[in-house]
Amino acid sequence: MLDRREGEEHEIREVLLVEDNLIDAQLMRRLLRRVTGAYYRITHVRTLNDAVLSAEELTPDVILADLNLPDSRGTQTVTSLQTSYPDIPLVIVSSWEDEAISLRSVKAGAQDYLVKGHIDAANLHRVIRYAVERKRTELELVRLAHYDQLTSLPNRTLLRERVGHALARATRSGTGMATLVLDMDRFKEINDMLGHEVGDKLLIEAGRRIRASVRDQDTVARLGGDEFAVILEGVSEAKEVLAVIERITCGLSDVTSIDGHEIKSSISIGIAMYPENGSDLSELLRAADLAMYQAKSLGRGRYQFFADAMQEEAQSRHALEWSLLRAVEKSEFRLVYQPQLCLRTGTVIGVEALLRWSSPARGLLTPHCFIAGLEEFGLIHEVGEWVLRTACEQVRRWHGMDFEPMRIGVNVSAQQLEDPMFIDKIRSALNDTKLPPEFLELELTESSLMSDPAEAGALLREIRKVGVRIAIDDFGTGYSSLTYLHDFPLNALKIDKRFVQSMESNDRGAPIANMIIGLGKNLGLDIIAEGVETEMQLEYLRNQGCDIAQGYLYARPEAPEQLTPWLAANQRISETYVRSIPVPKAGETGA
Ligand code: C2E
Ligand code: CA
Ligand code: CA
Repeated sequence: MLDRREGEEHEIREVLLVEDNLIDAQLMRRLLRRVTGAYYRITHVRTLNDAVLSAEELTPDVILADLNLPDSRGTQTVTSLQTSYPDIPLVIVSSWEDEAISLRSVKAGAQDYLVKGHIDAANLHRVIRYAVERKRTELELVRLAHYDQLTSLPNRTLLRERVGHALARATRSGTGMATLVLDMDRFKEINDMLGHEVGDKLLIEAGRRIRASVRDQDTVARLGGDEFAVILEGVSEAKEVLAVIERITCGLSDVTSIDGHEIKSSISIGIAMYPENGSDLSELLRAADLAMYQAKSLGRGRYQFFADAMQEEAQSRHALEWSLLRAVEKSEFRLVYQPQLCLRTGTVIGVEALLRWSSPARGLLTPHCFIAGLEEFGLIHEVGEWVLRTACEQVRRWHGMDFEPMRIGVNVSAQQLEDPMFIDKIRSALNDTKLPPEFLELELTESSLMSDPAEAGALLREIRKVGVRIAIDDFGTGYSSLTYLHDFPLNALKIDKRFVQSMESNDRGAPIANMIIGLGKNLGLDIIAEGVETEMQLEYLRNQGCDIAQGYLYARPEAPEQLTPWLAANQRISETYVRSIPVPKAGETGA
């Protein structure tokens, strides 16, 4: 009988005994029965094949197996049992005192070994207990290496393993597979605002909901941060993927309540298909990642399938980033200047500074090739500050040359407005160049002001306090809301060149230009028409009461070396283009 000692629980342990020798098996049963402190229930099979077949219905606590069976020998036995019972501790029972073989079995994955004829009950019990303990530790280490601590989802390592198997299956069966990369929108904001604990809980909940939206055989992994991956096996068509995406986004769209915060989250998804978009996990993840970034750039909560063009785009983006960094390093930027003429007096009242990149590889480039790049790679601050200083410096130089004092228009990106040092940078550019602030006119676009009109209004008032002028560039192409015109302290509106240029060709440009001119007049703002190319446009604008014009009709944007002689020749002229300008009334001469 079992004797019970104080404080020690009777454990019931299921043992699978794999032993072809019936006498040995009998001996083992006896020994196990003599063990104190535990009760062993034994299932005995005589071949490896029987052991493997039993794996479906048996979940033993430990397996005791002879190395040499009728249908398997040596470490082969260990490997097969390991495969069939990956989570069960295995103790090898060998018939010889061959250390080498026993050690090899432990290396192959057994937790321990026993040598027949050298076993007693206490020894056996201890070996089993250690084997169980060791297996538990091993499994824990495997878990740590394969699962994400926070969400308990598979990590990259396990994802790699699973995708390896999935790809092998897909190749064999000729089916497809979809790789999804999911990135939570605004996670950083939530994390910063509500703290890491809330952020962590949100990630756990998001992982749970994504997991609940897919089939059991699909893999959901956490790639790190707020990025997840989903692998959908046996999927070849977009519509099958879309059904899953629909479920995932639907599952995530419900409000999550965490520590009293109601959080509504959304996710951006990029999709890569096997075999079309990549042949291994790295390629598929890279493709899905690119697609995900594309989705993000289109707004939150979107998805996007990978397209080959994205690869090329990514490559050329990297090349662009690299060459822009170099351009900043090597000062490859230039400013060109385009005059603005007062239509009443015919004088040049200002010049707009326009950026050019003198690229050693591609020649002189206009901003549409690189401004977005400067913004994306965070270089616009540095370049923008350079533009501001250089433009102020240049116009000061012209002031010193006996011309009528002109204003300088400088284009400012939305990102620059977000720079907390922006106003300081303006002040110091003015200070250092000794340019009186009223000669500087910043050109801002409507869209850069409208993302947060209240904040923009406050900033504009600060800028006005410095004495600098503010113009709205490309007016009419951004936001339709006109209410802000009252709230913002503006000085000028620039009519976008597309309205000016469509005056002749279609009938919409003209009424829009009229409307802008009327609006500006009512609000007491200067109106600057840009992109004026023909006499007819000029005529029309002037008749409508537009104050200032800029365009190829007068001059293209030019480097200072070319513009200085032009200014000398044209600054006070009216003859060429002012033919039809009414002679200024007394007192109105000069800007
Ligand atoms: P924008 O501020 O609307 O500038 C006017 C654009 O129209 C300039 O293009 C100018 O060269 C062009 N233009 C002037 N007159 C005519 C004309 O009669 N006909 C036609 N078809 N076009 C004319 P550009 O120099 O290529 O600049 C494009 C845009 O790049 C600018 O549009 C501005 O938004 C941006 N940009 C230029 N310089 C800077 C800068 O220093 N900083 C920032 N953030 N943006 C800049
Ligand atoms: Ca402009
Ligand atoms: Ca413009």
